[in-house]
Amino acid sequence: MLNKYLYDKKIICPVCKGEFIMTKVKTSQLKVIERKSDFYTKYEGIEPFFYDVIVCSNCGYAALESEFDKITDISRNEILSKVTANWVKREFSGERTPQKALEAYLLSLYCSQLKKDKDIVFAKTCLRIAWIYRMLLDKDNENKYLKFSLDFYIKAYNGIDVYDEIQLTYMIGELNKMLDNKEEAKKWFSKVISHPDRHKNNLIVNLSRDEWQSLKE
Ligand SMILES: [Zn+2]
Repeated sequence: MLNKYLYDKKIICPVCKGEFIMTKVKTSQLKVIERKSDFYTKYEGIEPFFYDVIVCSNCGYAALESEFDKITDISRNEILSKVTANWVKREFSGERTPQKALEAYLLSLYCSQLKKDKDIVFAKTCLRIAWIYRMLLDKDNENKYLKFSLDFYIKAYNGIDVYDEIQLTYMIGELNKMLDNKEEAKKWFSKVISHPDRHKNNLIVNLSRDEWQSLKE
């Protein structure tokens, strides 16, 4: 029987056009236990972010749910020749262990490289991979993926796409803090605190003040 927070749904894969079953989280049922400063959120009885990556069991195409249908013909052919050609059919539906979630995320990261996804997609994917390594108590890989994530957040910050700049600035500060780059972290938190849009983002500004303060001490 499926975990009470989960349900199955049939979907069509945009790469192989086959049908498969994905498992989704009943978001209305979720109860927050704790929110970390890097936005990792602990819930009762389930890790919802384990299910953010959809993997087609037929062809191996994997992506964050928000990106799953965004695929060009060129990328589709890339996935077919580089992923599907070597794919051993296996299931990603049902409850995911940290190991299974990690496998899904690493596949998604590889498909993102083939699709040449935006920096922000890489930043988010790498951060979530770091969270899984943290759960698995693998500090080396956690730090490795935190660094990747930081590099992609900086690229996204410097890039032409428009995102929520305060949020990006905060994440760059936070990742620097986690990687023990204290001076860099303070610099980015200060940017948030003095940002022209600070009045629209009280939560982020307050978090930044707390983080800045904790680094000063
Ligand atoms: Zn497929």
